Amino acid sequence: MNAHGLDPLESDGIDVLQVNVGKLCNQTCRHCHVDAGPDRRESMSRETAEAIIRVLSESTIGILDITGGAPEMNPNFRWLVEQARQLGRHVIDRCNLTILVTKGYETLPGFLAEHQVEVVASLPCYSEENCDSQRGDGVFQKSIQALRQLNELGYGQPNGTLSLALVYNPVGPSLPPSQAQLEADYRRELREQYDLQFSKLYTITNLPISRFLDDLLQTGQYASYMQTLVESFNPQAAAGVMCRSMLSVDWQGRLYDCDFNQMLELPLTSETAKTIFDLDLAVLAKRRIVTGRHCFGCTAGAGSGCQGSFVS
Ligand code: SF4
Ligand code: SF4
Repeated sequence: MNAHGLDPLESDGIDVLQVNVGKLCNQTCRHCHVDAGPDRRESMSRETAEAIIRVLSESTIGILDITGGAPEMNPNFRWLVEQARQLGRHVIDRCNLTILVTKGYETLPGFLAEHQVEVVASLPCYSEENCDSQRGDGVFQKSIQALRQLNELGYGQPNGTLSLALVYNPVGPSLPPSQAQLEADYRRELREQYDLQFSKLYTITNLPISRFLDDLLQTGQYASYMQTLVESFNPQAAAGVMCRSMLSVDWQGRLYDCDFNQMLELPLTSETAKTIFDLDLAVLAKRRIVTGRHCFGCTAGAGSGCQGSFVS
């Protein structure tokens, strides 16, 4: 980083407020960096959700990116979406797809379409076997069912306004393949086998934290995976990491540089603000970012972030 003029790594404005509303999820995926699942009870309160909307209304931050867990399971999810849309902000729902076909959530796809919410959906493979090995038995077929519903509502259609992005992450300890090439493969396979469409594909590198780290350690692959990431360090990717243009909020309103730092409980360096209740956006827009060895996941190869790879 030093050799490339990137030390210390600093933010360059805040375009995205990424809000993790809690760890409750209807799935328990093998590589989950949140360690989410049906037994988790961490869940954002209305008071914290109101503080988020207050910050949005007093700023020019254009994007509210809602994640979890399964964010739709939070009782304040719909309220957050409605309020942010009333403020004219772009809203992203990081969706696991299966929640859309879960009992009690039948009206969710229609709600997302009505409010023009961008859906960013995990689908780690177009092969049922690979997908289910990472996310659990039956997940692939439910995901296909959910994608069909979204397509019927207008999501992912060419020239349509409802954006449906799919997210790929490697099943094993390797870097993702070329995003453009894989997108072409996904398009072909999903169209030919299931008559499904989507807007774009994001490839995301697995960061060596949480359940994926446990998996690496248990299988003796941690050192070799770290070596791969370090040897693939790309200064162009390092210059474009997502933490430079976003701020991450946890279910209690605490602030972080990104969702990964949030899971590692690495708070901001800033002396002025640690929570959504007392933040100073002007100061945070030019803050020093807290980095660690997990960051090699974002800086490897074509780069990796919540919008996929970003270096051609
Ligand atoms: S990866 Fe996503 S869908 Fe899977 S357990 Fe974690 S939060 Fe839930
Ligand atoms: S893991 Fe590191 S490099 Fe990646 S977004 Fe977070 S702070 Fe930035």
